[in-house]
Formats: sequence, structure tokens, C-alpha cells
Amino acid sequence: MIEISSDKRRASPPLLSPFPLLPPVQLLLFFAATACAGDPQIDADIPGGNIVVERIEGNDVWVHQDQRDTPRFWFWWHLRVQGAAGRTLTFHFTQGNVFGTRGPAVSRDGGKTWDWLGVEACDGDAFTCEFADGDTRVAFAIPYTPANLDQWLRTHDSQYLVRESLLQTDEQRNVDLLRVGCVDGSAQRRVLITARHHACESLASYVVEGLMEGWLALDDDGAWLRENVELVVVPIMDVDGVEDGDQGKLRAPHDHWLDYGDGSLYEEVRALKQRFQDNPQPVDVALDIHCPSIRDEKLYFALGP
Ligand SMILES: [Zn+2]
Repeated sequence: MIEISSDKRRASPPLLSPFPLLPPVQLLLFFAATACAGDPQIDADIPGGNIVVERIEGNDVWVHQDQRDTPRFWFWWHLRVQGAAGRTLTFHFTQGNVFGTRGPAVSRDGGKTWDWLGVEACDGDAFTCEFADGDTRVAFAIPYTPANLDQWLRTHDSQYLVRESLLQTDEQRNVDLLRVGCVDGSAQRRVLITARHHACESLASYVVEGLMEGWLALDDDGAWLRENVELVVVPIMDVDGVEDGDQGKLRAPHDHWLDYGDGSLYEEVRALKQRFQDNPQPVDVALDIHCPSIRDEKLYFALGP
């Protein structure tokens, strides 16, 4: 079995300095020219954050998404802007078009609530946004990290919802396994739902929330589901990738979705396989929720062998 450390699998390829011969003083002068006092602060030091800031000139900012260990173009990015009150900034993405069909998502309250900027904010590989005071987040799509799941769980306390831990990762993050509905062992049917094998596919998590709410709904369907069907859910499989803002999709040497053969690389996948080996339970329906590609609005069902 091949083992790779989580550090190695997430490491960005080494960056080659474009200024190998410049002494430190000149390097400092260069970077002083690219980030001046009065420039907005732009970073990705937030849950699910992902951005590389290349340079800032006035109200123009050149950036690109951090591919990390995804060796081909992918399009997750999620940045924070502070210190830009009253400014209208244009972000130029230098590694391709990274906008979906609704344009970037924006939060003007530090990630609590989100809206879409719309495609009218985009022009080619750039988008423009007005900023007020405070902490503004802009992302490819509305993020969903373990903090969002924690919040959902806090607001859905129920005897029909059991939170278990599938495992704690090497980075000390918990991979939750939730049991919803008929959780007393008498279930006639069982449904398994997983999501975020591809870390960047944040919107899949909102679909998972909706499915769980269907099991808890105070209506006839919800009552029947709670009486007859156990829903087993792993809402965030690649929890480290989600928290760190990785692309996750096509992660080298292969991603979590393609890790279910012999010799699984990822501890989360090994743990899920082990759980059903240790506790064999028939599963009537299994759904692994994903997102379509960047501007694809079709619904796909990828069937197994
Ligand atoms: Zn996917």
C-alpha cells in the first residue's frame, strides 16, 4: 500500500523565484512597490480560503487560484478583502476564467450571508466589485466548511439525528458521520449519502443539508422516513481539503473519489470502507453528491458498475 503524508499531498509545487539574482534589499523594494501602504488587504487566511495575490496597482488586483496538488486547471478560489472601504476593485485572474453562471459569490459580513455578484460583474477573466468597510469575502461559489455543518447541527437538535465521528484526521479535524431518521436499529431501509470527495464542490453540501432536512421534516414524508429509513451521511469526506481551501478535484496522484479500489490512499476513504466492513449493513441507495463543472448546469447521474 502506498502511503503519502497529508503535508505532501497538499504541498504546492515549489515556486521558482523570478528574481534569483536580486539581493534581499532589492527584493524588498520590489515587493514594496507591489503592496503599498493604503492598499487593501487581500488574503486567503480563512476557512476554505484560496488565492494567490500577484500584485496590486491602484484599484486593480492581479490574482490566481492556487491549484495546489491539482495538476490541471481548476477553478476554486475564495478570498478576503479588508481595508477597501469605498473602493471599487477589479480582480484580474491570470490563469483562466474562473467564474460560474452566476458570477462570483460575495459576503459583506465576514462569511455569514452570501449573494451572487452576477455575470454582469465579470468581464473576460476579471470581475469588479464595490467594497464597504469591514470583512468582505468573494469566492467562486458560496463556501461550505465544517463551521457551516456545526451551525446546521446546532439548529437541528433532534432525537432523530445522531452525530458520530468517522475519524479524526492527521490534521486533527473530525470527519463527521451523521445518522438521521430511523436511528434505533429498526430501519427497514438504509440510504448512504456522501459529499465533498472533491473539496471545492461547496454547493453539494447545501443539497446534503436539504436531504437531511427532508428526513427531519414535520410532514407525512418526514414521518414515514423517520419510521422506516436510516439516512447515513458523511457530509464532508475530505474535511482537511475543504477547511484548507484545496481544489481536491483531480488531486494527484488520484483524488478521493477515485480512491475506493484496493490500497486506498486517503484515511477518510479507508475509514468509511472499514465502517461498513466492521458493521455490515445493507444499503439500499447510495448517493455521492458532486457539482457539475464550472458553467455546466446539467444534472448528471454517474452510475457504478
Ligand atoms: Zn466532484
